[in-house]
Amino acid sequence: MRILTKMLASVTAAVLMIGAVGIPQQGRTAAYDADVTFSQLPASVNGGEPIRGVDVSSILSIEEAGVRFYDADGTEDDLFAILADHGVNYIRVRVWNEPNDGEGHSYGGGNNDVDTACAIGRRAARYGLKLLVDIQYSDFWADPAKQQRPKYWASHDHDTLTGEIYKWTTWVLTAITEAGGDIGMVQVGNETNCHFCGETDMYQICDLFASGDKAVRDFDPGILIAHHFADPSHVDDYYWYAKVLNERQVDYDVFATSYYPYWHGTTDNLTTVLKTIGDTYGKYVMVAETAYPYTNDDGDNFGNVVSAGSSDATFRYDISVDGQAQCLTDVFRAVAACGDKGLGVFYWEPAWLGVPDISWAEQREHWRGQGSGWATDYAAAYDPDVTEAGGSSYDNQALFDMHGRPLSSLDVFLHVYPQAARPEPTEATTLPMEEKTVYFGDLDDDAALTVFDLALLKRAAADPEALDRDARTTADLNADGRIDAADVVLLQDYLHGSRAPFPAGRDRQIQVPRRDEPRM
Ligand code: CA
Repeated sequence: MRILTKMLASVTAAVLMIGAVGIPQQGRTAAYDADVTFSQLPASVNGGEPIRGVDVSSILSIEEAGVRFYDADGTEDDLFAILADHGVNYIRVRVWNEPNDGEGHSYGGGNNDVDTACAIGRRAARYGLKLLVDIQYSDFWADPAKQQRPKYWASHDHDTLTGEIYKWTTWVLTAITEAGGDIGMVQVGNETNCHFCGETDMYQICDLFASGDKAVRDFDPGILIAHHFADPSHVDDYYWYAKVLNERQVDYDVFATSYYPYWHGTTDNLTTVLKTIGDTYGKYVMVAETAYPYTNDDGDNFGNVVSAGSSDATFRYDISVDGQAQCLTDVFRAVAACGDKGLGVFYWEPAWLGVPDISWAEQREHWRGQGSGWATDYAAAYDPDVTEAGGSSYDNQALFDMHGRPLSSLDVFLHVYPQAARPEPTEATTLPMEEKTVYFGDLDDDAALTVFDLALLKRAAADPEALDRDARTTADLNADGRIDAADVVLLQDYLHGSRAPFPAGRDRQIQVPRRDEPRM
């Protein structure tokens, strides 16, 4: 996505919106909605369940700010329930390393640290939605223009960085899985157009990719690994990325692209590029991000990244609910035209709204306080594009109106493929969860660290395969991806009272699926 645009338009928009504020209405919106004609595509991949995904990474922050969502009858409901009811089957969530200044001030943009991803993954799983974890290996937004290395990795040499990427990837997947998330796919990097984690040499980048990919494979070989690029209208660049990944024998499954139809060429070109790469290298392909405006209005007094008249945008569909639905359907069609290699489509941030009907100054308090906009003031210290807190530049591309009511275009997810019958969401489909404190080193799971754990750890250091995955995580005290003598020394020192618990902050209360229930 391209976030930073029209920041200066916010003041103008604020003036315009003051006169346009309406009274919140329940039920379907009259202002925007329209009859939409849906097309159905033949399902050919994934057991007849192509990916119909959305990225709702900002959801926790915007809920905290006070944004609410409604089902088609006007009843307030959990966004995840509404999405599942409308045919969505996959949730994408971005993960930043340390999106804060180290003194308790978040950078905003949804505050997407690991804890946020855990909470989103857990909620998605309650509604049977799988998770694509979009690990960005940055403390804030990563896209072709910027791939800034996390603060704490800034001085690492190539080998050290490679090792940290393995550890970090393992830690992210462990935390989300422990929290109850159902990870189906992992993106190692976001829009990595010859630029990743501060590195700009594609061959060096492939080393870094390989380290993250290996961490995913080691964690769970059933999880799909995706690499993600932006703008397939740069055809030769795309073929070169795929060629280098192949030359360097990068072990991945999915070649993914951002495709914003008003910037990134035609859907025919999208199909040609993805199908060529998928067929040449035997990879799945998909659209990891797309969006299209349904209106030129703005809902949060922060200017939008595109609307009619945007100088760099080409609109091949009406800017209307119907145009948005036809565009999204064509993006699905373009991926389906890649045959059984085409996995499906994720829509980017279809619910990133501001609180309706409040002033620019009131919105700004939410961007600053809850991180519900694209940045807080504190992000300026890390990201040079930030000058001050800002809101959502995508609210006119949402699949909900400005009051949180679903547009007809959201039903594309319901109608675009024949759907397997889905059970009604009931208490029975909710993952039973319980509180659990995870103590690292507690191999016998008795909530205490004793010589019995030390004995088990010594045995595990001799044969790590003897442990199941959860126990391996617990035993890897220094989180370096191995269980060995170094872990034994840490636990010995702790039991002798010569060191603090380890690693700092990793003992914690978490919500876990109750063990007597099968994982969904
Ligand atoms: Ca906006």
